[in-house]
Amino acid sequence: MTMKDKCVLVVGASRGIGAETARVFAAEGADVVLAARGVDGCEAVAREISGRGGSALAVGCDVADYGSVEAAVARALDAFGRIDVLINNAGVIEPIASPWEADPDAWARAIDINLTGAFRVLRATLPTMIDAGGGTVINVSSGAAASPREGWSAYCAGKAGLAMLTRSLALETQGEGIRVFGFRPGVVDTDMQVTIRASGINEISRIPRDRLLPASDPARVMLWLAGPEADDLAGQEVDIRMPGLRERAGLAPAHP
Ligand code: NAP
Repeated sequence: MTMKDKCVLVVGASRGIGAETARVFAAEGADVVLAARGVDGCEAVAREISGRGGSALAVGCDVADYGSVEAAVARALDAFGRIDVLINNAGVIEPIASPWEADPDAWARAIDINLTGAFRVLRATLPTMIDAGGGTVINVSSGAAASPREGWSAYCAGKAGLAMLTRSLALETQGEGIRVFGFRPGVVDTDMQVTIRASGINEISRIPRDRLLPASDPARVMLWLAGPEADDLAGQEVDIRMPGLRERAGLAPAHP
């Protein structure tokens, strides 16, 4: 129970990697707050966790709306009194379109969720973490932060911006006890990959489903990042495909 007496806020927890991350932290004894627009999905996972004797709270949260983010953080603090670990995981892949065909409003909305949304969550959470003397922040990044892909200009630009936000935060929280990570989860079998496969637009969309990672792999790496064994990686973009990383995090080697 490495997370006993720790409160973990998972934003983007209604399904996929975020939902699985909430399950993994709860199984280690954490008080988990699951936040997303789809509060029904968060409630279903929270019920599952409680049914197994864990501690979980579901809250509605739209990272595109600062009032909604502030309210979600306030509910987490009301319930558990602190936030020790923030998993900043909300993200969208759409619009999938060339830069000369994408709808400008949809493109801006993607940045508003994937980049500015992550900032809003940090802005609302960091004061309480700093007051409490520290904590861990994991901004869920992507290989797309460093590699352009056809059809994904909004997603790649948003994740690249998020990677710089991670580095800026690491610089500015030195001395505050905050450990900051960007985390690239690999290609994971979630609804986002269903959308990507349906688009058929680039090489990622053609990866067969049986080659994708289960969401439990990145979830378990994030649990490991939240612990002291990962201190040497703080401030960096950590990729699940980094040599030796899976082994350090206690995962079996990936299939070739
Ligand atoms: P997913 O199944 O589509 O889940 C995305 C999550 O983000 C959902 O819980 C969704 O909840 C939430 N979300 C989206 N917009 C939101 C908003 N405005 N406010 C609050 N929550 C919002 O995708 P996933 O694959 O698990 O992705 C999770 C993270 O991993 C994302 O940041 C993604 O970019 C990153 N990632 C995924 C892969 C992959 O292969 N799957 C690879 C690299 C990086 P609601 O819709 O209910 O709000």
